[in-house]
Amino acid sequence: MTTSESASSPAAAPSTPSAAGTPSGRRLRVAVVGAGPAGFYTVEALVKQKERPASVDLFERLPAPYGLVRYGVAPDHQKIKSVTVAYDKLGARPDVRYFGNVSIGHGAISVEDLFDHYDHVVFTVGCETDRRLGIPGEDLEGSHAATSFVAWYNGHPDFADYRADLRTERAAIVGIGDVAMDLSRLLVRPYADLRRTDMANAALAAFAESRVREIVVLARRGPAQAAFAAKELEDIVELPGVHVSVDREHVRADLAACEADHQTPHHGLLKRKLEFLAHLAEKEPKPGDKRVVLRFFASPVRLHGEAGRVTGIEIERNQLVTDERGRTSARGTGVFETLPVGLVFRSVGYRGVPIPGLPFDDGAGIVPNADGRVLRNGHPWPNVYVAGWIKRGPSGVIGTNKSDAAHTVQKMLEDAPALDGTPEKSGEGIVDVLRERGIHFVTYPDWKALDAIEVERGKASGKVREKLVRVPEMLGALGPR
Ligand code: NAP
Repeated sequence: MTTSESASSPAAAPSTPSAAGTPSGRRLRVAVVGAGPAGFYTVEALVKQKERPASVDLFERLPAPYGLVRYGVAPDHQKIKSVTVAYDKLGARPDVRYFGNVSIGHGAISVEDLFDHYDHVVFTVGCETDRRLGIPGEDLEGSHAATSFVAWYNGHPDFADYRADLRTERAAIVGIGDVAMDLSRLLVRPYADLRRTDMANAALAAFAESRVREIVVLARRGPAQAAFAAKELEDIVELPGVHVSVDREHVRADLAACEADHQTPHHGLLKRKLEFLAHLAEKEPKPGDKRVVLRFFASPVRLHGEAGRVTGIEIERNQLVTDERGRTSARGTGVFETLPVGLVFRSVGYRGVPIPGLPFDDGAGIVPNADGRVLRNGHPWPNVYVAGWIKRGPSGVIGTNKSDAAHTVQKMLEDAPALDGTPEKSGEGIVDVLRERGIHFVTYPDWKALDAIEVERGKASGKVREKLVRVPEMLGALGPR
């Protein structure tokens, strides 16, 4: 049965929670595609709701679950990764099945296949690629998308053959969000701190040889518009032998404006961040300090290179313009300058990738939706949903996905009465399809076996874990099936 057929099935009376608050009515069989935070929080919201029973299958194109918690969170932020304890509890539930190493839409299983076997399908695939700057020189050697660099040092299988040469004194990072803070911190952090983390070995070798002593973080707008969270900058400031430099006049001007205008959104938070920047602006570097320079009102216009490698970044000084709705943007002043650098990271955000069989909003880089209901030709496509970054774009922290997923699940439950009266779906059909098509899927117990292998391998080299970075290596470690 296709999704549109199931949607046209006769609707019965809506099911309501039983008096005891236990789920009642027709069981929902749901596929969740993408086992990152948004995927796990969707599973959680589905199995913990009290309106109707639900069985959930969680699909992931890689063998390992956790998405950006495994492949995005910085290796020196291990505490953040402890959210996986809660994900593992979900993975162990009898009403939740995990199918790792199963690519939907791009591989042997199509989106339509899922519609045949599930009542509802939720895509929680995140934003898998980078945004580009669109300036000359962007593809020179030594110019990296932060998204690729991050995936590489975190041992993402798609980046197992990626390389980055850090043997240069000065690097530029374009963009001033939390990813830019992660990169800055890792690049100035003592190697001794990194070698015990779960950073992939190839990346560790590059960091061991790093000669980076200065990082210029380029923000196209001013301190008041900077996207990073103050805590992330604090983590850099606290590192020994590191000086963070900020233009005093820029920060003072924004702080004064903030103090004068209590109507600014998140006024208290912004004021504290600007006060912290103002405090940093008064500090002097000590001899021998590595430097992280926050450079405001500067946009890259071109990367310069020699023999195919980056040698400099040309920037244009900006001024801020505010439109009639109060939104600020950067406008070039025609004043240019070239900074000599041997590395450039563009850290200007993530972007969603289209899934064959699903609509895609190319401008926004997300799946078009209304409150999580996927829109096809501008109308809700029955029984097809999104949650997380592919729904709202690449914003917020891991926890933001919890309320986001719960919101989508609420919409699914509102739509579920349309399924009452239709036959319940069996959970076995999809397993037969996977087997028939020769797909070596990874179950949750399989993943926990891989997890144990990685932790054991890490012990041998004094690391918290040694990730398996290639898919055949992971499948091979599970033995013959
Ligand atoms: P982000 O927060 O959206 O920051 C992107 C930055 O790139 C902004 O400074 C933006 O400036 C700038 N930018 C965009 N296009 C540009 C262009 N063409 N030229 C110059 N600059 C440009 O993105 P992110 O750093 O990738 O982070 C993604 C999400 O993950 C965020 O929600 C972040 O909080 C989260 N995250 C959290 C953590 C953590 O909590 N530890 C760590 C990493 C990431 P404008 O503001 O002017 O657009």
